[in-house]
Amino acid sequence: MRVTTAFNKMLSIPGASVSSVVFAPEGIVVGLRRRSGRPRCPCGAKGSGTYDTSVRRWRHLDLGASKLFLQARIRRLHCRRCDRVVTEAVPWARPRARHSRDFEDVVAWLAQRADKTTIARLLRTSWETVAGIVTRVVTEAIDDRRLTGLLRIGVDEVSYRKGHRYLTVVADHDQAGRVVWAGEGKNAATLGLFYDELGESGCAALEAVSMDLGAAFKKATDTHAHKPANASTRSTWSRSRTRPSTRPAAGRGTSNATRPGPRPGRAWDARPRTAHHRRGTRPGGSSTAAGRS
Ligand SMILES: [Zn+2]
Repeated sequence: MRVTTAFNKMLSIPGASVSSVVFAPEGIVVGLRRRSGRPRCPCGAKGSGTYDTSVRRWRHLDLGASKLFLQARIRRLHCRRCDRVVTEAVPWARPRARHSRDFEDVVAWLAQRADKTTIARLLRTSWETVAGIVTRVVTEAIDDRRLTGLLRIGVDEVSYRKGHRYLTVVADHDQAGRVVWAGEGKNAATLGLFYDELGESGCAALEAVSMDLGAAFKKATDTHAHKPANASTRSTWSRSRTRPSTRPAAGRGTSNATRPGPRPGRAWDARPRTAHHRRGTRPGGSSTAAGRS
């Protein structure tokens, strides 16, 4: 079997076949030949012609002790939809990435379980590269519609780095506690960033906000979300720890995932909870677990 055929089978690169294999001092360089015809912009639009071409390399997953690079000739095109010259999209790597999608996915998976320095040493790359990849993968995974139509949300803090660093996490009670936003820090300014991103109309649409922390989060919520004129919504904003009988049913980070949110049309935290209900809503340590996930 020819070496290119072997690498073709072994790597199974989407949208391309292996045309050459070179054992270079820096590692194995695998040349790729595209299967598709017209270049496509990362936005999805097809280009009508080629602006220019160049050769690009992407770091791929190691092969044994060797680093492995994918190399291909890629085109730039003028995208009518974006109204500018762009580099064509390739199936094996994200736009602007210098690492293959597989390599980046491994980094993103490891980033949930280890610190960036460990990952950088394990994969023989730099800390900055790991940070850049994590940002790119997370950006791709974020659903732009996640802040649309929010009615009942829960705000909580989660700690990481042994309690030295905090994230503010916002969950949507109407979607089984799905996390829709997270920001570094746990003060009013942090939550203020969320409300800024939500926008004036998004804040006005909020019917209820549950939170445990009192002062900081309440301050931000009062500033941003008290704009709606409907007085009946005001009672549902925040409940401090000193009033456990009216604590909202949810809002403990992602711990809500296993628990349905309040039903639409129901007076939420305005009514006292039963003892059974309260017990069920205080899973110990769930917030920290969310932070490590
Ligand atoms: Zn485009």
